[in-house]
Amino acid sequence: MSDIHNDKHQQRQQKVKDKVDERIAAAQTEKGVFQVITGNGKGKSTSGFGTVTRCVGHGMKAAVCQFIKGTWPCGERNVLQGAGVEFAIMNTGFTWETQNKESDTAAAQATWQEAKRMLADESINLVLLDEITYMITYGYIDLDEALEVIANRPPMQSLIITGRGAHRKLTDLADTVSEVRNVKHAFDAGVKAQIGFDY
Ligand code: ATP
Ligand code: MG
Repeated sequence: MSDIHNDKHQQRQQKVKDKVDERIAAAQTEKGVFQVITGNGKGKSTSGFGTVTRCVGHGMKAAVCQFIKGTWPCGERNVLQGAGVEFAIMNTGFTWETQNKESDTAAAQATWQEAKRMLADESINLVLLDEITYMITYGYIDLDEALEVIANRPPMQSLIITGRGAHRKLTDLADTVSEVRNVKHAFDAGVKAQIGFDY
C-alpha cells in the first residue's frame, strides 16, 4: 500500500473509532437487560446457556427454568447445576407427543410459579426461561401476566427468554432481541440430534 493510501485508511479508521468511542461514552445506563432469542434457526438455547455460563464465571448468581425439555438430557444442566445454578424443569405433562390441555397447563403453571419466584428474587443476577414462548403461545401461561412479572422484576436482574415465534408484545418489551435465522440444519439431511452437540 502507498503512503497516501495508508494515511487515508488511517484517517477513515480514526473516524470510525471516534464514532464508536462517542457511543460507548454515551451508553451510561446500568440496568438488568431483557433479551429475547427467537427465530427458527439453531442456537437459541445454547446462546442463553452461554450467557448463564458467563454470569456464573463472574461469581454471580443465575437460575434457569426449562419449559419443554422434560426428561431430555441436557449437557449444560449437568455442568451448571454443579456450579450452583438452580434449575426448575417442567418434567411432567408437556411433551410434543401427548398434548393434553389440562395436564400441560398444570405442568407449565408449576414451572411458571418457580419462574415468578426467581423473577422476584433480587439476589439472582440472571434468569433464563428456556422455551417459554411456546407456553405463552398455547395459552398455558397468560401473556399479560408474564409481561407484568417481567416488567416488575428487580431492576438490576437480567432475563433471557428463548423459543420460536416470540409474541410481539414480548419483543416490544425487550431491550435486546436476537432472531436466529435457519440457513440450513443437519436434521433436514437426516442427521439425528447428536449428544454433546444438540443436547
Ligand atoms: P439449541 O438448543 O441447539 O441452541 P435451539 O434452542 O435454537 O437449539 P430449539 O427449537 O429449542 O432450538 O430446538 C432444540 C433442538 O432442535 C436441538 O436439538 C436443535 O439442534 C434442533 N433444532 C434447532 N433448530 C432446528 C431447525 N431449524 N431444524 C431442525 N432442528 C432444529
Ligand atoms: Mg431451544
